[in-house]
Amino acid sequence: MGKLKKAEKDSGRLARLGEFGFIDRMARPFLKGLPKGIEGIGDDCAVLPRIKGERLIVTTDMLIEDRHFIRKRIPARDLGWKALAVNLSDIAAMGGRAKWALLSIGIPAGIDLDWLDAFFAGWRDAAVPSGVRLAGGDTTKSPAGLVINVVVIGMVRAGREKLRSAARPGDVIAVTGRLGDSGGGLKVILAGASRKRGTGEKVCRDEARLIRAHNRPRPHLEEGEWLAGRAGVRAMMDVSDGIDSDIRRIMERSGVGADIDLDRLPVSPELERVARRRGFDAIETAAAGGEDYCLLATVERKSFDKIAVAFARKFGRPLRAVGTIRPRSSGLRYFLRGKRTSLKSRGFDHFR
Ligand code: ADP
Ligand code: MG
Repeated sequence: MGKLKKAEKDSGRLARLGEFGFIDRMARPFLKGLPKGIEGIGDDCAVLPRIKGERLIVTTDMLIEDRHFIRKRIPARDLGWKALAVNLSDIAAMGGRAKWALLSIGIPAGIDLDWLDAFFAGWRDAAVPSGVRLAGGDTTKSPAGLVINVVVIGMVRAGREKLRSAARPGDVIAVTGRLGDSGGGLKVILAGASRKRGTGEKVCRDEARLIRAHNRPRPHLEEGEWLAGRAGVRAMMDVSDGIDSDIRRIMERSGVGADIDLDRLPVSPELERVARRRGFDAIETAAAGGEDYCLLATVERKSFDKIAVAFARKFGRPLRAVGTIRPRSSGLRYFLRGKRTSLKSRGFDHFR
């Protein structure tokens, strides 16, 4: 009862502010310190600079309530982070730097001002480390469900952009982070655990870590830019649908096949413990879970060791070799301790 009244009062606050009042209020922190000659939020278009010798890279991602997230199961602040972070991950995958963002949001009844403030706080949490600036967007009411669309514009030195089409047979397939934590986190979330203390069942530390990996994925921007600058790094992409789905994108675009060693997928001890306790397969989750948002790169074999050593020195984490690019005719093959095997599940596909 008390809670309901508060929500009514808050959506009253949003209604009193109106569309333009709301935009003015949310825009304030994003207008501070814009360079001269640049227009951010407030005009018909944002006005952005051109940089000589750089190419523009542009990406967009949509998040739809009950399709990509369950509003009751993700804190607003985490959703604000994630909406931006998944787009930054695409910029990282090209080897670029993120510069500008546009945010369009369809707000359903029942979302209050506090929720939106938390969303924008999470957005800023993700924006600050990368230096990406919010330059505009659109705000509208939604008849049912929250809709969020983000555009990120980045820059990459001309010729440094890393494409999915550049893999060659013999390349080492490598990943920049652990796989499966996010997919494991999603299993925990769907099973009904909540991050908030005192609600739902008690969440242990391992599960809280997996949920965090799912709700607050870290885009590997520094890793991406660094890898793009190394001779010998060929194709690159981010792991968003699970390596099982994503490696197929590289295979199609490059006209190659791939061998993946399932026992070499970097699985965290937390994922292993949670999987054992909850009775799911950690390796399957690592291969097909999705939303890890680390990077997958193919690296010329003769350069791999040197690049892996330099990567570990620079980032304090390994660049993990998980397989080899093969000729197209060999297709996608999985191995477990050297023996051919197959996956029970497949990477994510919205239409399957
Ligand atoms: P127009 O009708 O000309 O498209 P709007 O009235 O929709 O402009 O928006 C006014 C300004 O506020 C524009 O600069 C737009 O980019 C910005 N804006 C609107 N909604 C958002 C949002 N959710 N996030 C960031 N900027 C926004
Ligand atoms: Mg508009």
